[in-house]
Amino acid sequence: MFDRFNRRIHYLRISVTDRCNLSCGYCMPEEGIPFVGRDQILSFEEIRDLVAVAVGMGVTKVRLTGGEPLVRRGILDLVQMLAEIPGIKDLCMTSNGILLRDYALPLRQAGLGRINISLDTVDPARFRDITGGGDVSQVLEGIEAARNAGLQPVKLNCVVTDSPDEPDARGVANYARDCGLEVRFIRRMDLKTGQFWPIMGSDGGHCEICSRLRVSSDGRIFPCLFDNTFFSIREQGIETALRLAVENKPGAGNRSDMGIHTLGG
Ligand code: SAM
Ligand code: SF4
Repeated sequence: MFDRFNRRIHYLRISVTDRCNLSCGYCMPEEGIPFVGRDQILSFEEIRDLVAVAVGMGVTKVRLTGGEPLVRRGILDLVQMLAEIPGIKDLCMTSNGILLRDYALPLRQAGLGRINISLDTVDPARFRDITGGGDVSQVLEGIEAARNAGLQPVKLNCVVTDSPDEPDARGVANYARDCGLEVRFIRRMDLKTGQFWPIMGSDGGHCEICSRLRVSSDGRIFPCLFDNTFFSIREQGIETALRLAVENKPGAGNRSDMGIHTLGG
């Protein structure tokens, strides 16, 4: 699929839940967010059908995200269902790593290829502050388990306020170097004001080479993280919603009322 700006669209990021077992200050607004009702969340069959149609239209890469994808009940079954779709070349996930110690190997066995794990600091007290009470040792065990399970590559996502020179980011860089892992530093975005930056070492935020569509946990396809336009697979049908999303992809992002928590960062 090509959009109006001749960008090839081959990457689907699917939020499989808007729930999370952490509450990072930059992701969850203090006033909280209205969660999608359980009856509104896409079923595994709906996600499988969406991915099968998307692959038929040229999508080759699917990332499962959230909220926290590992809190979605039955996530291993979903991974297996998607891995079995012929034509998927890259099936990956972004996770906060909290539950990964126990999930890494079953995920690999279910067909997940690789994983990005979010880690903003290796300092336990700072991690508790940033994530609203999380335990960094669980994430570090999760990273270890992911490496041992053969998820390849394991990459780290580290959100920074301004630059990778901040103390927390340096700590993560040192840890990653010692483990031989790649880190992507992501400057903290503010969706309300439309302030976002290209992600260092990735095509995220580089509008001119953007190849992705985003799917919310209730089945709305968003052509861009920084745009409020969406097309619903339930109302318009999968193929039409996908086609309209590609046709309406903006040349560059602007601002969004949706929030990263809903659309998966
Ligand atoms: N819960 C999973 C996790 O934390 O990896 C997946 C969903 S999370 C929304 C996806 C990514 O978005 C994470 O790497 C997170 O750090 C990043 N993120 C969340 N809020 C952000 C913000 N305001 N600016 C930049 N990145 C953000
Ligand atoms: Fe949860 Fe990930 Fe958002 Fe943190 S960044 S609150 S772990 S969804």
